[in-house]
Amino acid sequence: MRTIGLIGGMSWESTAEYYRILNERTRERLGGLHSARCVLFSVDFALIEELQVRGRWAEAGEVLAGAARALEAAGADLLLICTNTMHKVADQVEAATSLPLLHLADTTAAAVRAAGLRRVGLLGTAFTMEQEFYRGRLAAGGLDVIVPDAAGRALVHRVIYEELCLGVVNDRSRAAYREVVEDLVARGAEGVVLGCTEIELLIGPADSPVPLFPTARLHAEAAVDAALAGGAH
Ligand code: GLU
Repeated sequence: MRTIGLIGGMSWESTAEYYRILNERTRERLGGLHSARCVLFSVDFALIEELQVRGRWAEAGEVLAGAARALEAAGADLLLICTNTMHKVADQVEAATSLPLLHLADTTAAAVRAAGLRRVGLLGTAFTMEQEFYRGRLAAGGLDVIVPDAAGRALVHRVIYEELCLGVVNDRSRAAYREVVEDLVARGAEGVVLGCTEIELLIGPADSPVPLFPTARLHAEAAVDAALAGGAH
């Protein structure tokens, strides 16, 4: 079993889920008392969010690159960036070490293709929904991506930063997200990518008429599969 290196804390609400899913998947795969070999570098999200808002991505990338180097030194064999948004600096993180980076958009696209779907709605932060680094990577993975209208995108973004990243999960926002999902489905979405690692804390299969793709879960499960590819020991 290889050691999984997690660059987390963005936010820690979803990183905690990663840790749980990594261990559940390992137990599912190996049984008994097996658990995931992993190392976590959890950053201070307040700093990252401030750099995002100011558009200082290279500096945020340097923080994550430093985390990657620390994880390599701590014995990690592969890296995960535990947030969709910060894949904007995936190249910078990848260049910082010799470790393979399991890209979240790739594990997501693979899951959508495996479900036999192509046209998907994408929910996430404004950065993720509006910029090429993520949409383009999904498109390169064979998907046709649509996003909510401007009002829908603003709502989805606000709930992520003002509620979900602070551990606030409420029915009003769930109902609002359901409407955004319904609108995407009316526009032809065959599935919806929950392209922010906290969204799966708010909505699940019961909230959507089409399949949902929870990116944190899919990413964590794919990481365990990659870690076990060489065997259990
Ligand atoms: N965890 C979120 C994501 O998957 C948003 C927080 C962040 O900006 O990193 O995009």
